[in-house]
Amino acid sequence: MNFEDLNLHPTLLKAIREQNYTVPTPIQEKAIPLVLDGGDVLGCAQTGTGKTAAFALPILQNLSTNRLPLSVRQNGRRPIRTLVLAPTRELALQIHESFVAYGRYTGLRTTYIFGGVSQNPQVKALEQGVDILVATPGRLLDLMSQNFVDLRTIEVFVLDEADRMLDMGFIHDIRKVVAALPRKRQTLLFSATLLPEIRELASGMLNNPRLVSVAPPASTVDMIDQSVHFVERTDKIGRLIQLLENPDVDRALVFTRTKYGADKVVRKLTQVDIKAAAIHGNKSQNNRQAALEGFKTGRMRVLVATDIAARGLDIDDVSHVFNLDLPFEPECYVHRIGRTARAGRDGVAVSFCSSEERSLLTAIERMIHKQIAVVGPVPGAARPTDINAIRRNDRAERRADDASGESGKTENPRPRSTLRPGTYEVTRRQPSTTDRVPGSSGRDPRGPGRSKASPDSSSPASSTRRCHPRRSGR
Ligand code: AMP
Repeated sequence: MNFEDLNLHPTLLKAIREQNYTVPTPIQEKAIPLVLDGGDVLGCAQTGTGKTAAFALPILQNLSTNRLPLSVRQNGRRPIRTLVLAPTRELALQIHESFVAYGRYTGLRTTYIFGGVSQNPQVKALEQGVDILVATPGRLLDLMSQNFVDLRTIEVFVLDEADRMLDMGFIHDIRKVVAALPRKRQTLLFSATLLPEIRELASGMLNNPRLVSVAPPASTVDMIDQSVHFVERTDKIGRLIQLLENPDVDRALVFTRTKYGADKVVRKLTQVDIKAAAIHGNKSQNNRQAALEGFKTGRMRVLVATDIAARGLDIDDVSHVFNLDLPFEPECYVHRIGRTARAGRDGVAVSFCSSEERSLLTAIERMIHKQIAVVGPVPGAARPTDINAIRRNDRAERRADDASGESGKTENPRPRSTLRPGTYEVTRRQPSTTDRVPGSSGRDPRGPGRSKASPDSSSPASSTRRCHPRRSGR
């Protein structure tokens, strides 16, 4: 199938060609006709499947074919006709950019609003009138309460990454937003999983929806050259620096468990003239954007991230992923390494495992159903992993660094009251990045490293896991 077969307008086809898209992805093939038809859609798809264009293209087409008469304009400006709600600033920005790219010949206006930056430019953009608004829930409600946003004219409402929204605790915000929308509207809900809570949310929001479901993008796990080094925690950054000397490491994404850990890695790399930046929840939006731009343009070879900051990021050409710390949840590992080997390219994933993390490694190997190649000596018997002890050690390390003046200044210092030692990213739900990872459904309640093997590996529900260390209860 070609995009021409989807009855899309020539202006959209032109923009699609400029994006160098040749054929629609499966979610686009399935969802575009349904959305063009005007019905509600429940889409089970995750980032990387092309789902943004799957809703953006038909929305742009419908809005531009059903142009509003001038009389409908509010105070002489265009009313907001489409609202897209996204869980994070990064995702909101990416969706906005997609609407702008696909809609560049439609004459429709898109803007975004999210927190962490001044509201003034956002308010200014709203005051000029927009057709499509992409928003995160907090700032949207804030601007609604200040009467800068009126949702009564919404024709299409998109809730993107609904499962993540719920995990991030946005359920009440979503309900408030939905209550402000007109009853007569088209609603599109996208989620990586269709767990009961998502179905429940959908049933209260969607009217007779059509379900479109696509498998997650082809598994990257098998295409990635994965290895593990047994390294104790104090030696990890040194080993990372050694490995970064390899000229094959073109563009590296380094994952740490804590925000503090991410900043520390950046400091150490900078000391040895390796250009790096960190991206995590304590960074301002401008800071995060600058780090991302620097990494994407190649100005910085290394981006250090915590799990939540890396979620939903669409970064091409990551040659290497380094797991400086192993994640508490094995699904996070799959998600992390899936940042490399995108679009059919090769990728390398190197993990460091300290003796306290050995059970985390076992859990990962069970989940991906393979043993990760060990580089260097294999230490003797593993100590049982105690996640609370790891957390205590993370905090102790930070205190020790603080006491020795080692921690230096962070790029975005916060008062100590808000930046607790060893603060963890709150990564809630973790969609799977692969449909070839067997046994990812259901965790054996006996504890880590005992994932139940499940034949239902492609079930979207199988991918739901929490990466929040406090919730793992292990
Ligand atoms: P998404 O799942 O919407 O985040 O899209 C993931 C990536 O796929 C983005 O970089 C899009 O630009 C790209 N993309 C979307 N649709 C297509 C297509 N039909 N052909 C090639 N790339 C696409």
